[in-house]
Amino acid sequence: GIGVLYAAALATHPRPEFPSQWMMVMSALAVTALIVGTFASKVRQDADTLNFQALHDSLTGLANRALFLNRVDCALRRAEGREEQVAVLFLDIDDFKMVNDSLGHPTGDQLLTAFARSLDSLTRDGDILARLGGDEFAVLLESGPMPQTAEDVAVRIAKMLDTPFQLGDTEVTVGVSIGISVAPRSQGTCEGLLRESDLAMYLAKQNGKGRFETILPG
Ligand code: C2E
Ligand code: C2E
Ligand code: MG
Repeated sequence: GIGVLYAAALATHPRPEFPSQWMMVMSALAVTALIVGTFASKVRQDADTLNFQALHDSLTGLANRALFLNRVDCALRRAEGREEQVAVLFLDIDDFKMVNDSLGHPTGDQLLTAFARSLDSLTRDGDILARLGGDEFAVLLESGPMPQTAEDVAVRIAKMLDTPFQLGDTEVTVGVSIGISVAPRSQGTCEGLLRESDLAMYLAKQNGKGRFETILPG
């Protein structure tokens, strides 16, 4: 019985061919796995890209308002055993509309990008930077004594703006009005903290622009 089957098998598929047939099956499997794997990682990459785009400003690459509010919320909730306060700096470039109108939108965009890069270079890696829209930016500080640290950073930003931005062959000088709000951890809401910093920024504008105002926790 079995002997006859074995002999028949040998006759139709002579021994030397077995390894090569196995090789074919294995490589077919490998190619399939590779295709499926590549497809899956492409899908994952696309999802990551979509996720990044949903949470970041496309012009500057900074966090957008949604991500920023989320980070502020997390910061406010990260209380455990920490005395430290949280600060938000709300930045609005002074008379940005004039830059846009006189030099054109592309130059306006270049200014926003250069401004974002400068902000990044004078804050710590752990500090969260965001573009909230238009010429509005925000910084979240989670470490250091407040409001001193936040005011240090505001002064650093103002000093940075003493040097004009070189945009193509135009030099552009702008000021910025900054509102600072401070909250103890595990108190207040992210919307509340952002609203207060917005209000403080408005006061800075009213009091002559190119300056900062601070609202301390009441
Ligand atoms: P980083 O921590 O990402 O900080 C980037 C920039 O933010 C600094 O550039 C500085 O302009 C500003 N900055 C951050 N923290 C402070 C601060 O406490 N006081 C002041 N006045 N400015 C601050 P900088 O100075 O060129 O430093 C570049 C990088 O070198 C920093 O990146 C950090 O990684 C490192 N570094 C410089 N100084 C120190 C230091 O004293 N201690 C530590 N641990 N790292 C330092
Ligand atoms: P400082 O510049 O007077 O800053 C005092 C404290 O404010 C720092 O204490 C830190 O807690 C906080 N602080 C200042 N700038 C920033 C900031 O951009 N982001 C955040 N998250 N916190 C900030 P710390 O860390 O003990 O540093 C003590 C001193 O060491 C600083 O005094 C500064 O003179 C120097 N230093 C530390 N890191 C840097 C740095 O990256 N660059 C420069 N230039 N100096 C630094
Ligand atoms: Mg403005």
